[in-house]
Amino acid sequence: RTAVVLFTRDLRVHDQPALAAACSAFDRVVPLYVLDPALAGLSANRSRFLHQSLAELREALRRRGGDLVVRRGDPVAETIKLARKVGAEGIGLSADVSRYARRRERRLREEAERHRMFLRLFPGVTIVEPGSVKPTGGDHYKVFSPYHRVWQGAGRREELAAPRRVRLPDGVDPGRLPAPPKGDSPDAAPGGESVAQRRLKQWLPTLGRYDDIHDDMAGDLTSRLSPYLRFGCLSPLAVANRADDWTGPFVRQLCWRDFYYQVTAAFPQLSSVAYRRGATEEWRYDPQALDAWTEGRTGMPIVDAGMRQLRAEGWMHNRARLITAGYLTKHLGLDWRPGVRVFSRWLLDGDVANNSGNWQWVAGTGNDSRPYRGFNPVRQAERYDPDGAYVRRWVPELASIGGKAIHQPWRLPDEARRRLDYPPPLEVPGTDPTWLR
Ligand code: FAD
Repeated sequence: RTAVVLFTRDLRVHDQPALAAACSAFDRVVPLYVLDPALAGLSANRSRFLHQSLAELREALRRRGGDLVVRRGDPVAETIKLARKVGAEGIGLSADVSRYARRRERRLREEAERHRMFLRLFPGVTIVEPGSVKPTGGDHYKVFSPYHRVWQGAGRREELAAPRRVRLPDGVDPGRLPAPPKGDSPDAAPGGESVAQRRLKQWLPTLGRYDDIHDDMAGDLTSRLSPYLRFGCLSPLAVANRADDWTGPFVRQLCWRDFYYQVTAAFPQLSSVAYRRGATEEWRYDPQALDAWTEGRTGMPIVDAGMRQLRAEGWMHNRARLITAGYLTKHLGLDWRPGVRVFSRWLLDGDVANNSGNWQWVAGTGNDSRPYRGFNPVRQAERYDPDGAYVRRWVPELASIGGKAIHQPWRLPDEARRRLDYPPPLEVPGTDPTWLR
């Protein structure tokens, strides 16, 4: 008896429910990844990370006697073709929420049934499955706090060990895994399950201080596990189990992740349509300001620092994401959708649910119960980068300015300001923000 396990964004052997179930119920298992040309061009950074993760997954499966079979093309057609070739009874797949993933899932089910095979969906992309906790009278939670309360008490599945043996049917060509493409960011973290496990282990001693340090931009002490969670190199359930405190502030952040997945499952157009009914959307058209923001030359040091970190590392500190997104939408008055696209191009952890969900939250079109809150970038900078060390790291043109004065170079005496190779803050017609006065 044979089954195919189609990997998508669950690139691990530990706590991989689809793989574990197939290995315990079937004699032969074909772990498959289909390189989908429709997704290939979205982000060079993520393509590189993906290929590194696939190479590691292949090694992990080989150590267990199996292999990762790699194909290129339409994932549905390739999966069905291979499943038929090996005489599989069925296909296992982790359930996912994006519009693209749901369509792929639907087509796969139809094709599998047409060929008398079953398609079985498994949990594992989130901790609590989207849709499994619902408010009375609704299909999903719109506000985080009540979701978090229910989420903490929700039933959870058991964490699963990696299968000891994976037996591939005879005569399957594993296919070639192309070398990782070059990413765009020189300092991007490498992908893979073992890198992720090491990162988690190294970071865990910091966990007890998470509440105090997670907003310290220069300290940079958050887990940086987001890309590994994005590609499923780590199971979110396993991460939460290691953290061991389901009521603590770190697991609460993992709950935010689940929160946006259940929002996306219910509102799949999250990346393009305002979530909040009646949200005002009167954005300015200003391509030059958008370019300056994208390239990290707005003249607002904390914003430029964040955008430059994004380009250099394919990752940005959460506080910097809030500040840069708030600056684009609430100060420059520009649409959040290009913001989503710019982040999506660079972020290793970029995904529809978290990227769009957070952007909409900041822009005031999303799940924030206080949609009109503003982000004063100077006040934010003085609070979360009090000595200016984060700005100094990413905006070296300003490195000579001592202390928190670095956050407002426009206040320097004319002479000193002229010596800086740094632009004045972008002006928005018709506004006179207090922080520039
Ligand atoms: P930690 O602080 O160590 O948190 C642990 C984990 O919790 C993270 O790895 C992540 O999986 C989850 N998490 C933390 N904060 C959030 C949050 N606000 N929303 C959802 N999950 C969260 N996160 C993404 O994973 N992908 C994105 O595309 C993404 N886009 C964002 C866009 C904007 C405008 C903003 C404001 C935030 C975005 N985030 C996104 C959320 C957050 O910034 C990152 O998850 C976090 O910075 C990752 O760093 P970390 O792993 O060190 O986080």
